Amino acid sequence: MATRLTLAVPKKGRLSQDTFALLKKAGLSFRITDRSLKAEVRNFPLDLLLLRTADIPGIVAENIAEIGITGQNDVAEYNYPVRTLVPLGFGRCSLCLAFPDGDIGADLNGKRIATSYPNLLSTYLNDIDIDAQPVKLAGSIELAPKLGIADLICDLVSTGSTLRSNGLTKGEEIFKSEAVIVGAADIDTSKQTLLDKLLLRVKAVLTAKKFRYVIMNASRGDVPDIERCIPGLKKPTISSLADTELVSIASVIEEDYFWATIEKLKSAGASGIVVLPIEKLVL
Ligand code: AMP
Repeated sequence: MATRLTLAVPKKGRLSQDTFALLKKAGLSFRITDRSLKAEVRNFPLDLLLLRTADIPGIVAENIAEIGITGQNDVAEYNYPVRTLVPLGFGRCSLCLAFPDGDIGADLNGKRIATSYPNLLSTYLNDIDIDAQPVKLAGSIELAPKLGIADLICDLVSTGSTLRSNGLTKGEEIFKSEAVIVGAADIDTSKQTLLDKLLLRVKAVLTAKKFRYVIMNASRGDVPDIERCIPGLKKPTISSLADTELVSIASVIEEDYFWATIEKLKSAGASGIVVLPIEKLVL
């Protein structure tokens, strides 16, 4: 039977839609329904296993799936022997202490702290020499102080709106997280070849998001100044227009410096600047 790779992905929750969108952008074709537990990718030797995010590091550590997409928070909490291969730039959040409004800054010694991340919390408490008691809950952590189960909580915060609507104030941030691709410690050679191909595709999508393709017109004499404004990947492409005094310049510019670069290009004499998104970029 031909070798296939298995990728464990979040079935539901914050990371699942972004994960499916990323895989589709990377050119993978698959269909997932509400009841799917497994899906076959039609145009790449890959099977998707749909699991709870928190179960994914363990499944990858056991080599049941050679790779997985999950949150760094779950990788760190369970401390399984998996390798982080690619940070994905979505699912950003922080594991934070949060206090019932008014209690912020209270002494943590002797307090009960509700969390789904008792290991990360205990490590933090040990580091700052605090004797508090983690209370493990699987969900609805924000309700714990109101129910009298805990004095404060330690939970993932993204926008902060769940904390606010439960009368909680954000305190210390103890761990920063985003979605990552993790891989098993040992992957056999034929599967590693497939994995390299898959990662190339995924990275091409991630890299493309950081850049824009720009095309502009300029006088030939302005080209040296314009080149200096473009910290592009390589030298820009310059082609002559029918009017020999004018050239068309094409380059790739970084999204982070996009407006600053456009302003500089205009001052250096560029006109008719067209900006296009890039779908995939292989460096
Ligand atoms: P928010 O209201 O946006 O701060 O989100 C807080 C709620 O969403 C909490 O219940 C968190 O446990 C959960 N949450 C936020 N970000 C993530 C994430 N990246 N992964 C998993 N759960 C998250």
